Amino acid sequence: MKILAIETSCDETSAAIIEAKKDDLKVKILANFTASSLSLHAKTGGIIPETAAREQIKYILPVIEKALNSIPRINNQNIEESIDAIAVTIGPGLIGSLLVGVKTAKTLSYVWNKPIIQVNHLIGHIYANFIRGNSKFETRNSKLNTKRSKPDTDIEFPATVLIVSGGHTDLLLMKNHEKIIWLGGTRDDAAGEAFDKIGRILNLPYPGGPNIEIAALKGNENAINFPRPLIKSDDFDFSFSGLKTAALREIQKRKLNVKDVEDISASVQKAIVDVLIKKTLKAAQKYNTKSILLAGGVAANQKLRDQFESEIRNLKLEIPLFVPQKWLCTDNAAMIGAAAFFTGKKTPWRKIATNPELYFN
Ligand code: AMP
Ligand code: MG
Repeated sequence: MKILAIETSCDETSAAIIEAKKDDLKVKILANFTASSLSLHAKTGGIIPETAAREQIKYILPVIEKALNSIPRINNQNIEESIDAIAVTIGPGLIGSLLVGVKTAKTLSYVWNKPIIQVNHLIGHIYANFIRGNSKFETRNSKLNTKRSKPDTDIEFPATVLIVSGGHTDLLLMKNHEKIIWLGGTRDDAAGEAFDKIGRILNLPYPGGPNIEIAALKGNENAINFPRPLIKSDDFDFSFSGLKTAALREIQKRKLNVKDVEDISASVQKAIVDVLIKKTLKAAQKYNTKSILLAGGVAANQKLRDQFESEIRNLKLEIPLFVPQKWLCTDNAAMIGAAAFFTGKKTPWRKIATNPELYFN
């Protein structure tokens, strides 16, 4: 089965073609092209929805054309003949951006007479972990699997999933492809949002996450003991807005030289990573999960990946950690195609609508 997938929930315009077979459950990426308006948002220090939507309109057809033209055609067949379905993100996200992808998918569905599979963007992030069968794009299976008999075996359920992105921080229990239970989430700012807001007050370029990670490499993570909100609470909730205020106070105390920026970056990153790991491992132990999956833009953070592995090892938990390749952590259409393959129901185009507030059922 070949799926043309479209992702336009925020500031990335992405089209992919994935191939998957029901018998081996492997998702292979045949093409993935992403255009980003990130550099425009860097100038304003954050995303302006109107600008993001306009950029989506500019890039949507070129990325789809590139994806379609990059796959081989048999006997000069029409390009759409090799596509079995169209997958599209319907939400959550920015309404203007989402509309561009959804309207395009509906038009192609009508013209080509192909079914649409609608995808929740957050579920899409999880499925970046299920992309296999193509070494260039492969999901990395944690080194911790050495004790398991089949180290490259597929992800086993139940799985604990941590989604950490610019707009969301959620802990989920994935019982199977059909049943995903929400355990908790942030009560205020998402982890990525905290990185981005603190990056801005540190005068680092946008987005803050990757730039704080770079600055942190030379910093002392124990320089400032920032609060770790809700780290000991009984629930699976998070809160990151207090951290932003604490960072602001530290910054106001100083003239802010390079060393300060490095130390504050390292200490902030450590505080965020500590809370994310503690809560995820608590959920994994409570629900006896057989795998842990990281997803979303913040999952690209190397400190988060490394500390997760070492804490799992220290606790002697034999739970494999799955992390997508870094480029698959941020928004892309390939993950939307993978989610469509595993979870999707084909829907007539007339019934497809954007849902900017879409969450977990
Ligand atoms: P998403 O919302 O999934 O597209 O991811 C974007 C978010 O991920 C932004 O808040 C980024 O700052 C954050 N992010 C991306 N890379 C990193 C990184 N290496 N470390 C921390 N945060 C990151
Ligand atoms: Mg996202």
